[in-house]
Amino acid sequence: LFITFEGGDGSGKSTQSRLLADWLAQSREVVFTREPGGTELGAEIRSLLLHTGGHITDRAEALLYAADRSHHIATVVRPALERGAVVLQDRYFDSSVAYQGEGRELEPNDIRDLSLWGTEGLIPDVTVLIDLPPAVGRERLAARDETPDRLEAAGDDFHERVRRAYLRLAEAEPDRFLVLDGTEPIDSLQQRIRDRVSAVLEQ
Ligand code: C5P
Repeated sequence: LFITFEGGDGSGKSTQSRLLADWLAQSREVVFTREPGGTELGAEIRSLLLHTGGHITDRAEALLYAADRSHHIATVVRPALERGAVVLQDRYFDSSVAYQGEGRELEPNDIRDLSLWGTEGLIPDVTVLIDLPPAVGRERLAARDETPDRLEAAGDDFHERVRRAYLRLAEAEPDRFLVLDGTEPIDSLQQRIRDRVSAVLEQ
């Protein structure tokens, strides 16, 4: 079972995925991972991506995300799925479709195709999208002092485009996506996620 978590910066997806991982790990093998940065190579790519200070072209950025993803899926995620583990992943290709495709105004379908090529077509069973107004996410991150340089430079329009892109993706694939309101309390969000995952595990 392959479950991904998506959402804007500060949406709380990392908190939710970690809580779900702890819960599932009581009864089965769970691999909890993230992108960019889920492998040794990926950690270097993540550091390159998050500290460019804007000195990278949009297409080069998209290719680095795709390279990280390709390596991570082949070396970590597929082997785990093949031995029957549940893989929980913080961000996957929907992030690239939203951030690089819509946010950077590259062609979203090209970005999706690039990812599918890189991952040999691996699509999640469930994708949890935590929707949040960008202003709320920004406040949360500012409080934690975690805003990366590329994003600080990106501006409000960028984050609005990312949010709308995510919601469109969810609308197009309602069976795969669980869309949640990120302003809800942590506990109630977690309960909704557990309900969905339990239902899928029982199928
Ligand atoms: O939220 P997380 O720490 O996983 O993401 C790291 C940063 O990289 C975030 O600021 C996110 O907006 C950005 N990112 C991106 N494109 C992606 C994935 C992440 O711009 N495909």
